[in-house]
Amino acid sequence: NAKHSGRGRFALFDASLDEEARASAVLEQELRDAASRGNFELYYQPLYDLRTRSFDMAEALIRWPHPSRGLLLPRHFMHLADRTGMVPTIGEWVIGEAVMRIAEFERSGQPLQVSINISPTHLERIDFISTVKSALTRWSVPPHLLQIEVTEEVALRDPELAADRLRRLSDLGVTIAIDDFGTGYSNLALLTALPISRLKIDKALLKDLTVKPEARVLVQTIISMANSLGLHTVAEGVETEAQIDLLSAMGCDLVQGFLTARPMKLKHLREMIGDSTRRRPRVNLTSAA
Ligand code: C2E
Ligand code: MG
Ligand code: MG
Ligand code: MG
Repeated sequence: NAKHSGRGRFALFDASLDEEARASAVLEQELRDAASRGNFELYYQPLYDLRTRSFDMAEALIRWPHPSRGLLLPRHFMHLADRTGMVPTIGEWVIGEAVMRIAEFERSGQPLQVSINISPTHLERIDFISTVKSALTRWSVPPHLLQIEVTEEVALRDPELAADRLRRLSDLGVTIAIDDFGTGYSNLALLTALPISRLKIDKALLKDLTVKPEARVLVQTIISMANSLGLHTVAEGVETEAQIDLLSAMGCDLVQGFLTARPMKLKHLREMIGDSTRRRPRVNLTSAA
């Protein structure tokens, strides 16, 4: 019958499929172990404020120090986490870790706002707000030192639920940013409906900024619109001084990219933030003044 002939046809590939399935089952188990122990690391990428000309905040970016594969980036394991329901567990670790570090910075007399990425499935959880609240309480952290980044996807899934969660976060005093703006639906109505403080312009738009006139118009339009709505803008993936000059002239507030600072270990962030002379970038940004 069809079932049998189907089996026969795939028999040739059974060995390699088996191996692939086994490898992915192993990775899933390893991720489960890491998630239950919080065996991750947060890297921090400082954001450069074009007005104050200093680094006043940083985005926390998750890394997984894998026992044999080295340091894994989110694109190597977050999709697996999503498929297997581990996103909220990992997200809870991220919240706890980031808030603890915010408290450390504050206590050392160098307050730093830290921004964390939250997946839609975690934001939608019934206990999401209480997780954030108890982390802030546990470490006595002023809520404004925490920022939560979500993509527009949250509003496409369940607009009412997303609006409720974000409103409650905002009521706590936590800042909210829309991540990767300009690539998805970029629904303008969304921006007025949600309690957002910052708009992060996706790095895909930045890539073309200095070469394609259309990209320039698009970025300028986003920045002007954000400004009129009272939102701050962050340009992601800034890699050249020419981009900084242009963004500065366009009224962009913050830049985040390899040019000004790469994602770094906590230890290096501490050195950079602790040393006020290093709080300014090493590259020559005088023209951005
Ligand atoms: P994202 O939130 O848009 O983060 C910015 C990404 O751009 C980071 O990649 C960062 O390393 C990279 N980047 C920064 N500056 C530059 C630049 O100048 N050029 C280029 N080409 N890239 C730059 P990363 O760390 O690999 O993270 C990728 C994505 O994974 C993040 O994008 C975010 O969506 C997700 N992610 C990271 N950490 C977490 C987390 O803790 N939880 C969740 N749910 N997602 C996370
Ligand atoms: Mg982000
Ligand atoms: Mg982004
Ligand atoms: Mg992204």
